[in-house]
Amino acid sequence: MSTLTLPQPDFMQDEELRMFADAAQRFFSRAAPPVRVQQWINDGQVEREFWTEVGEAGFLGVSLPEEYGGPGGDFRHDIVLCETCARLGLDGFAITLHNVIVAPYIQLHGTEEQKQRWLPKLVSGERVCAIAMSEPGAGSDLQAIRTTALKDGDGYRINGSKTFISNGQIADFIVVVAKTDPSKGARGVSLLVVETDKVEGFRRGNKLDKIGHEAQDTSELFFDDVYVPAENLLGGVEGKGFFQLMAELPRERLIIAVNSVIAMEKAINWTLDYTKDRKAFGQSVFEFQNTQFQLAACKAKAVVARTFVNDCIEKACNGTLDNDTSAIAKMWVTDTEWEIMDACLQLHGGYGYVNEFPIAKQWKNSRIQRIYGGSNEIMKVLIARGL
Ligand SMILES: Cc1cc2nc3c(=O)[nH]c(=O)nc-3n(C[C@H](O)[C@H](O)[C@H](O)COP(=O)(O)OP(=O)(O)OC[C@H]3O[C@@H](n4cnc5c(N)ncnc54)[C@H](O)[C@@H]3O)c2cc1C
Repeated sequence: MSTLTLPQPDFMQDEELRMFADAAQRFFSRAAPPVRVQQWINDGQVEREFWTEVGEAGFLGVSLPEEYGGPGGDFRHDIVLCETCARLGLDGFAITLHNVIVAPYIQLHGTEEQKQRWLPKLVSGERVCAIAMSEPGAGSDLQAIRTTALKDGDGYRINGSKTFISNGQIADFIVVVAKTDPSKGARGVSLLVVETDKVEGFRRGNKLDKIGHEAQDTSELFFDDVYVPAENLLGGVEGKGFFQLMAELPRERLIIAVNSVIAMEKAINWTLDYTKDRKAFGQSVFEFQNTQFQLAACKAKAVVARTFVNDCIEKACNGTLDNDTSAIAKMWVTDTEWEIMDACLQLHGGYGYVNEFPIAKQWKNSRIQRIYGGSNEIMKVLIARGL
């Protein structure tokens, strides 16, 4: 087994973080062995029970403070978990969506009452999260969403449909992006929480048949006159949704880049092993100069990507990661991931195209990285704005 390891973030020198990483590695290796992961792939989703197990083991909401039921960790703990699950190939289990994307919306933008009401349930696994932004007619252009949440007595009636929603089949805690005032553009957008077992008119549509991430239940969702009480409006003030989304995007984009660098590391190691073992023209494939040059270039790109990502993680930890830098990370690192996946697959020859080989699966999974979280074209739009 080749063991190329890319430079780790400096915080991994910290004894407590190393112990946390070891505990996470032990737990997830034991709780999600390959046979269970294969079952998730066959089923097209992770079973609900697994979320409860992870909650009981203390790995949900790890960066939430103790007053809301969390263990009081921080973003470094989130990164460790993200990397652990990515290394183990648990791509169907959307822990970063739950821990790093949705929980912070509540923690940072919820009212005190909302935090007390919801966060402990996210920590225990009693609730599984999703964020519903994208619609059939609006993905990149979020201002064009058509879902509405119009005032009705003491609450809101939500009408509309969403698509591409990760955790779509099992989530029971859905942050819905909707227009509370369609006449006001971005200032008319709000975030509302739908607890699916407490409402009528909510329906899950098809689980989408994707080319990768087969264990992820990416789905359509429908809201037909779904009534939620006013206390489910995140932050309690209408029209803040767009700004709440924008505030959290740098961290979300960084997490995508973190997944990319783990994928790069795995792909290079698989390819080193494969090419050293595979023979052609009386020598190992690794001995061809082309193979060595390709893998040298992959390593160089991966080291540069990892070093930049580590710098971004440090900035995110001390609150200085800005939109521009996270857009650069998301765009460049995922584009580079794709170059590396393709080069590594090529070096596997025909076996690279066979699903049994991990590089084939990773190549398919990597393709979405340049599309979700804001497509890489949108990242360029954002970066260009600052030029
Ligand atoms: C597996 C998966 C999981 C997902 N999970 C979620 C989720 O949990 N929640 C959620 O809300 N969404 C989720 N999404 C949706 C994802 O965020 C969107 O697919 C993405 O934002 C792109 O939107 P779109 O698909 O509507 O493409 P479009 O916006 O229609 O874009 C089509 C093409 O046009 C390009 N384009 C668009 N605007 C511009 C522009 N101004 N300049 C140049 N080019 C442009 C895009 O880059 C793209 O190449 C997920 C998607 C997938 C596939």
